[in-house]
Amino acid sequence: MARRLTYTFDNGPWPGTTERLLDFLAEREIKATFFVVGERLQDPESRRLTVRAWQEGHWIGNHTLTHTTPLGRDGDRARVEREIGETEKLLGDMAHPRKFFRPNGSGSLGSHILSPDARDFLVENKYTMVTWNSVPKDWIDPHRDWLDRAKQDLETLDWPLLVLHDKFIGDMVDTLAQFHDHLLDQGVEVTQDFDPTYLPIDQGVTRPDLADLVSA
Ligand SMILES: [Zn+2]
Repeated sequence: MARRLTYTFDNGPWPGTTERLLDFLAEREIKATFFVVGERLQDPESRRLTVRAWQEGHWIGNHTLTHTTPLGRDGDRARVEREIGETEKLLGDMAHPRKFFRPNGSGSLGSHILSPDARDFLVENKYTMVTWNSVPKDWIDPHRDWLDRAKQDLETLDWPLLVLHDKFIGDMVDTLAQFHDHLLDQGVEVTQDFDPTYLPIDQGVTRPDLADLVSA
């Protein structure tokens, strides 16, 4: 049974749904990290939501500019600078000082995640790369079934680093309430920080297992 859990919400913000998620997190005094897609910040309403999340104490991380082909499959220096560097500029002061970056990879970890140029860029610019160990696939219909999958992960993982998506959870915050109540019942501590095991690059310092996430 898990002792701790970290919440992360990816791919947003989504005006009309992220608000409901932020309301819930505020009401329950939960702090999370939002990994936002850079190009979404060009929309003023989305930008306002990210500012709100930041002001309410959530950490804001970089989740690429376009969230398209993973960088391990298409990641020369120019594309990396655009996908990661441009997003960091759009985040500005909202970017966490540890420069959290989460690559996109359809929920799976492997050499499709980073190119050698992407790795070098992250190291040179002292980013912290955040991966995951619990992806209950809230994007799959029926969406509400994420709850059972996440509960199963709680049984087997010591410290789930949970990936959810505001686009879906914002429309079913009652499921998040159920999950959170379950955590509290089980005595699981919710923490905003990440298990270092899932930081293959920490402020520019790499771990040996990073090699598994870099294409040849
Ligand atoms: Zn994503």
